[in-house]
Amino acid sequence: ILLVNHVSKTYQSGSKSLTVLNDINFEIKPGSSVAIVGPSGSGKTTLLGLCAGLDGASSGNIILNGKSLDQLSEDERAAIRNQHVGFIFQSFNLLPTLTALENVMVPLELLGKKNVKPQALELLEKVGLGDRIHHYPAQLSGGEQQRVSIARAFANQPKILFADEPTGNLDEETGAVIENLIFNLNKESGTTLVMVTHDGELAQRTNRILKLKGGKLADDSQQNSNISNSH
Ligand code: ATP
Repeated sequence: ILLVNHVSKTYQSGSKSLTVLNDINFEIKPGSSVAIVGPSGSGKTTLLGLCAGLDGASSGNIILNGKSLDQLSEDERAAIRNQHVGFIFQSFNLLPTLTALENVMVPLELLGKKNVKPQALELLEKVGLGDRIHHYPAQLSGGEQQRVSIARAFANQPKILFADEPTGNLDEETGAVIENLIFNLNKESGTTLVMVTHDGELAQRTNRILKLKGGKLADDSQQNSNISNSH
């Protein structure tokens, strides 16, 4: 579902250039769960953004769901994201002027769907927020906001879910609830999961850990490879 082929990324700021990713190669199979780990500044978030088509690589090629991202216009990349991709961010990234329900309805409406309220309600029920649907983000706890963002991320029934430190801003207990929700949805729906995390225990729950160091892929270890087939 995701092929990363000789990908490099160099940022320019003023006269300085900084190569953050240097010739990264890997392939992710549908339905699997993958953690991207590595020291702070090693390029994890950058790599996630490139894979999701949020930004373009400086060189190399990324194929997401059969489409080569570097050959697409920004509008075409956005269309792929709306259709096939879900996101969860450390800082939730909900729209502050919309209620929980409206935040989940937006991606469905973007797809041109009509009468999306029942589906949005069902998603919010699923993440345990049926009684908070008319709350605005500022009226919700961090864990509740992250649940809204999970419901939103799964609204378009994505083939692949990208998560950047999804439990990074949450206490341990709330983080565990969010973790379980994400893994359950990954198993239930077969959605491929690609997650940046500093949390070693969370990384251990995935099928595979990709470790970045100094802009290179320093380690690629498969683990728990029988988990997705064992139930
Ligand atoms: P952390 O774990 O601290 O979140 P990370 O591994 O996710 O870090 P990135 O956020 O990908 O790392 O950043 C990698 C490097 O690229 C950092 O040195 C950062 O300062 C730099 N960087 C990121 N985005 C930009 C940008 N838009 N312009 C210039 N430099 C950038």
